[in-house]
Amino acid sequence: MREYHHDESEHEGIQPDSELSLPARRALAIHELLVEKGIIAADEVRERTDAYRSRSPSDGAKVVAKAWTDPAFRKRLLDDARAAVYELGYTLTHDAELAVVENTSEVHHLVVCTLCSCYPTSLLGPPPDWYKSFAYRQRAVIGPRSVMREFGLELDDQVQVRLVDSTADLRYLVLPRRPAGTEGMAEEELAALVTRDSMIGVTEPLSPKIESPA
Ligand code: FE
Repeated sequence: MREYHHDESEHEGIQPDSELSLPARRALAIHELLVEKGIIAADEVRERTDAYRSRSPSDGAKVVAKAWTDPAFRKRLLDDARAAVYELGYTLTHDAELAVVENTSEVHHLVVCTLCSCYPTSLLGPPPDWYKSFAYRQRAVIGPRSVMREFGLELDDQVQVRLVDSTADLRYLVLPRRPAGTEGMAEEELAALVTRDSMIGVTEPLSPKIESPA
């Protein structure tokens, strides 16, 4: 009996509406073989998938907000990201190392996985589709400024763009610049300004809403 333990075919009689693509069928076939040969257990795959889906960019945002408000934590985060995020209760769900790269007035980092879709899922959840697209992976290398412009980010010419290539062994997270006008804001309010895209580097964090005088 074939047991896929795959979301769309978990229940007998429920079939996906559309034909699975060739890569999807290949992945299922490999999964089936690994389970059949006892290399992995079907439950392990499901547990990993659930853990990965339970994370979202709000987790990464908390890490960033902490770094903005606590200089000692910021230093630890840049020196040893795995240990620093562990302090906040986050464990990396894969064996890959995590590196946090800091944006400054001089350097802006943009993250890409040129090979496939490596991404700090432990802190951001699953990557967006555009991150996995061939177009992004290619264009981020050829013209990072034009990619960022499409996301609404126009960088000054004197800012150096540094492209970092995530791999299966090392994934990058951007520590974006703290927006102006956020002095005195609490960590929680700051975290609300940190978007997924700003931790990939295609945008800056949101600006605080300016309260108009009554
Ligand atoms: Fe990848």
